[in-house]
Amino acid sequence: MATAEQYRNQASSLSYRNQAFIGGKYVPAVSGETFDCVSPIDGAVLTSVASCDKEDVDAAVKAARAAFESGVWSEMDPRDRKQALLRFAAAIADHREELALLETLDMGKPITFAQSVDIDGVVSTVQWYAEAIDKIYDEIAPTGRDAIGMITREPLGVVATVVPWNFPLLMGAWKFGPALAAGNSIIMKPAEQSPLSALRLAEIAAEAGIPDGVFNVVPGFGEKAGQALGLHMDVDMVAFTGSTEVGKYFLKYAADSNMKHISLECGGKTPNIVFNDCKDLDAAAMGSGMGVFFNTGQVCVASTRLLVQEDIHDEFVEKVKKVAETMQPGDPLDPATLMGSMVDVDQMERVKSYIEIGEKEGASLVQGGKQVRQNTGGAYVEPTIFDKVDNSMRIAQEEIFGPVLSTITFRDEEEAVRIANDTIYGLQACLWTDDLNRAHKVARRLKAGTVNVNDTDGGDITVPFGGYKQSGIGRDKSLHAYDKYTQLKTTYIKLS
Ligand code: NDP
Repeated sequence: MATAEQYRNQASSLSYRNQAFIGGKYVPAVSGETFDCVSPIDGAVLTSVASCDKEDVDAAVKAARAAFESGVWSEMDPRDRKQALLRFAAAIADHREELALLETLDMGKPITFAQSVDIDGVVSTVQWYAEAIDKIYDEIAPTGRDAIGMITREPLGVVATVVPWNFPLLMGAWKFGPALAAGNSIIMKPAEQSPLSALRLAEIAAEAGIPDGVFNVVPGFGEKAGQALGLHMDVDMVAFTGSTEVGKYFLKYAADSNMKHISLECGGKTPNIVFNDCKDLDAAAMGSGMGVFFNTGQVCVASTRLLVQEDIHDEFVEKVKKVAETMQPGDPLDPATLMGSMVDVDQMERVKSYIEIGEKEGASLVQGGKQVRQNTGGAYVEPTIFDKVDNSMRIAQEEIFGPVLSTITFRDEEEAVRIANDTIYGLQACLWTDDLNRAHKVARRLKAGTVNVNDTDGGDITVPFGGYKQSGIGRDKSLHAYDKYTQLKTTYIKLS
């Protein structure tokens, strides 16, 4: 692993891809408009990026549709498509350092995590779906002897992925991995805060042999490029990750256009329940701290509501405070840094405003709460812990998307479950206990797409990920996600 100085030198010699990637080549926005891509590490402008609008989206959809209809990818033999995607995964692995550096510069996450979580995660996701391609069989229905009912999966066509800035490539890969494996053409709209890695990835895809028009990227603003994709009459599906508010827009866009498929992975307010029968409170404290402060709290499953049983409350909160102390914000390019910057100044101000709201609501600020490293010009906030939070407070109900923990005390299992489920969200829930019966019984009662027992970030590509309630519709990861990018055709053959 290089030093911060070496990463800075590498960064200074990077040449950023800053135009849209449509039909196999880089093109400026039709309007000629650009927007500044600013690094939250120090406020420096990295480059100016094409600001795509309806015309650019039209061009990308045309290219994606033409590639799809040509069959160059959609009808490729499964084994060949598998080999192409495996080459793509290998090419991403070859560019691990560069892509991770782009993520760190663009959104401020620590370089170590950008490599080991983000880019390694992209590689293994693409590999996993590539490997699945020639192992998925279609079905024959149990009809009578005078007919054959064939049920076959077909790709949808043109799939748009509208993704956020917290894991810019990884959130994309959870979508384009299965979508490409199923034979679709894709158009990726990265968040305006973090477009650089997706733009570079498009070129890597082309070099690895993904045919022109199959992998397109349109950078730009949500209200323009994102909306144009949502309303487009020739986009067959939008797979979205981001806020619940914008997720709802996509349901409207689909209704106002062509009834395209919509999958949504939206907000969360994860309850993290620590029962007094948990024997390893140190492990629980480490999991609780990492669960909320990892990626500066900018994680949809961040375990932001810590529910502690009353008789272990004091001891446990002290332990979590100690974990927070080890995670003070540092230089994201330093391999030793565990917490980097917020994605931008706006997000930092939003987080600071929630800290003020928490204090005004009467919660007790027991750790952090301040902006730090101001001299860098970047956007850094301390890991922050509130105690004596009531679950009805805004800091316990709204997705802050920053390093802010709300501690709530409960008396018994019944109360813990009630508080945990008292939210509009249902993405993830966590519980810590050494009682196997309790683990199963409580897990069943928690209304969440994922329940972690004695962990805060369990799960891998083999299991589905997505939300109950207003945390979303549909699932990423696993073969369930593959199915999402296909439609079923019944061919019913009468036998005489
Ligand atoms: P958004 O939900 O606004 O953005 C996610 C994606 O949707 C981005 O690509 C964005 O583009 C696009 N988008 C935004 N507005 C529209 C629109 N009107 N029509 C179509 N596409 C749109 O998240 P933000 O980046 O604004 O973050 C705000 C809050 O959302 C966070 O503080 C957090 O609470 C939550 N969030 C949740 C995430 C999750 O994983 N659950 C991820 C990110 C944010 P653009 O960036 O260009 O605006």
